[in-house]
Amino acid sequence: MPLRKYNPHYDPLVDETPGCNTDYAPTYWVDSAGIQPEDDGTVSTDMSVDTVVIGSGFTGLATALFLAKEHHIEVAVLEANRLGWGCTSRNGGQAQLATGRLSRNQWLKKWGETTAKALHEEICQGFATFEAIIKDEDISCDLTDRGHLYIAHKPSILARLSRESELNNKVFSYNTEIIDTHRLRAEYVNEHHSCGALLEPTGLGVHPVKLAYGYARAARKYGAKIYTSSPVIAWEEKQDYHYLVTPKGIIKAHRVAIATGGYTHTSLSPYLSYRYMPILSNSVVTGVLTSGQLEECSIKTSMVMTDTRILRFYYRLLPDGRMQIGTRSAITGSDADNKKHYALLVDGLHRKFPALKSAPIDYSWWGWVDVSHDMMPRITQIDKKNIFYALGYGGNGVSFSAQAGKRMAQKVAGVFDSNLEKLPIYSSELPKHPLRPLRRPGQWLLYRYYHGLDSILP
Ligand SMILES: Cc1cc2nc3c(=O)[nH]c(=O)nc-3n(C[C@H](O)[C@H](O)[C@H](O)COP(=O)(O)OP(=O)(O)OC[C@H]3O[C@@H](n4cnc5c(N)ncnc54)[C@H](O)[C@@H]3O)c2cc1C
Repeated sequence: MPLRKYNPHYDPLVDETPGCNTDYAPTYWVDSAGIQPEDDGTVSTDMSVDTVVIGSGFTGLATALFLAKEHHIEVAVLEANRLGWGCTSRNGGQAQLATGRLSRNQWLKKWGETTAKALHEEICQGFATFEAIIKDEDISCDLTDRGHLYIAHKPSILARLSRESELNNKVFSYNTEIIDTHRLRAEYVNEHHSCGALLEPTGLGVHPVKLAYGYARAARKYGAKIYTSSPVIAWEEKQDYHYLVTPKGIIKAHRVAIATGGYTHTSLSPYLSYRYMPILSNSVVTGVLTSGQLEECSIKTSMVMTDTRILRFYYRLLPDGRMQIGTRSAITGSDADNKKHYALLVDGLHRKFPALKSAPIDYSWWGWVDVSHDMMPRITQIDKKNIFYALGYGGNGVSFSAQAGKRMAQKVAGVFDSNLEKLPIYSSELPKHPLRPLRRPGQWLLYRYYHGLDSILP
């Protein structure tokens, strides 16, 4: 099957599927990942399998890995395009101790202390799951210094970060610390807009495509099949079976796990309609920085960093001396390559690191993040049917997708620990949005409002 040209305008709310055998987005990660592992080719005939996983991002691959390795279940991953083609090959590679977009303080307000603490514990276990896969499967994926710097972009934010740090320490026994501007600049990074930071001990940067290739190799080693260029274009349920139609064959499966992230198109399943919002995020990578530029930026760590804007920037120094930075982008796919979004991102880079005004930009790309309407993910079963999904990480899925895959596999295998059902992310479905047609105009208004809050208020 001929490789199709990458479509920069793909939009999950408009297009029927994310394509078929479409080339990767032009990312630094794909360019520097080395040789792609073998897969099982394209579905070319009708077949039958116990469980189908739709999507070969981190979530789909981790689910397949656990299904095959721990539960000995026959599993086939169906990927529309290439291995890890969606968010997984386009992200910032920042593994943080988080999932969804709500802060620990917001968990406390929403669910109370017992549930908030249990959720924190689950996310910590998730980070351990993520690290264990890398270690056990011997995946070489350019791990960075440990930790995460959450950098205050204005002085008034530091007081909020101090309260957050106190809460982390006292309520969650998570020992974060506040670093003042002087120490931040002397020991970590000379970021011009920084006014101090919250330093989290847990966090890692990874090369996401090397990691995805490692997940795929491991899943196949334990018997999972991975079919690429095999989009699910129709889906029928008859008696106890699912019939997943791909362009060249129909797969009959007893159970289906959906792991399509921000690339979940509206026609995939009626059960998911309006339950999530795809949001564009873009990223650039500079050329290799000169010693003069590195010296001026005074970056003494490879640790992952984000700033405290609501429309936040995420950035870090890459192992080969380039800088990567990303932020929120266009609202529609058709506007994704509008130069103003690129300009906003590059302007952010230059304001943070004026020395990089002379650095070339070698790579620019974007991708769809899956954001749920209540800002938290769900790993759940649909209405007692044999359909499961893990969606809605809100741009915090690099590490948590490992745990989501583990838990989804347990749900599929029927061995999910009922004690975990007390966590809202495992016990309910993604909420629907009540004002469907207004979601994108609403997003446009919110972005303007957030830009105002981020830049105008002291
Ligand atoms: C620009 C950007 C930056 C990000 N940065 C970070 C970060 O620094 N840290 C972090 O934690 N998270 C980040 N994220 C989010 C993170 O990448 C994801 O949460 C993570 O990769 C998990 O993705 P996934 O496996 O759930 O979905 P994806 O990786 O998006 O995979 C979904 C797959 O499903 C396939 N698919 C869809 N429909 C079908 C179909 N009908 N049939 C077959 N296949 C189908 C798609 O082709 C796609 O490959 C970022 C995302 C983006 C876009």
